[in-house]
Amino acid sequence: MPIYEYELCEGDCKVCGGRFELQRPIKTPALKECPVCHKAVRKVFGAVYMPKHLKKVNVRDATSKGFTVLKKTSKGEYEVHKPDRGI
Ligand SMILES: [Zn+2]
Repeated sequence: MPIYEYELCEGDCKVCGGRFELQRPIKTPALKECPVCHKAVRKVFGAVYMPKHLKKVNVRDATSKGFTVLKKTSKGEYEVHKPDRGI
């Protein structure tokens, strides 16, 4: 389950501290208010933690998903890995 970070739209809250994290199922509608003080909250952009995204990016995985990966070679040059589009 991803963890979302929320902050109060305005004001302060002694209960949640004005900013809190909440683990919620991905299909749950966006949280509109602090579950404790019921003040309006907004989701902090980019603060979504998906544990499976923490793994290191594998060059082969990235290219297979269509990313162009620049890999530094031992000679100090960059080797370009272009996605294999297939014919
Ligand atoms: Zn609160």
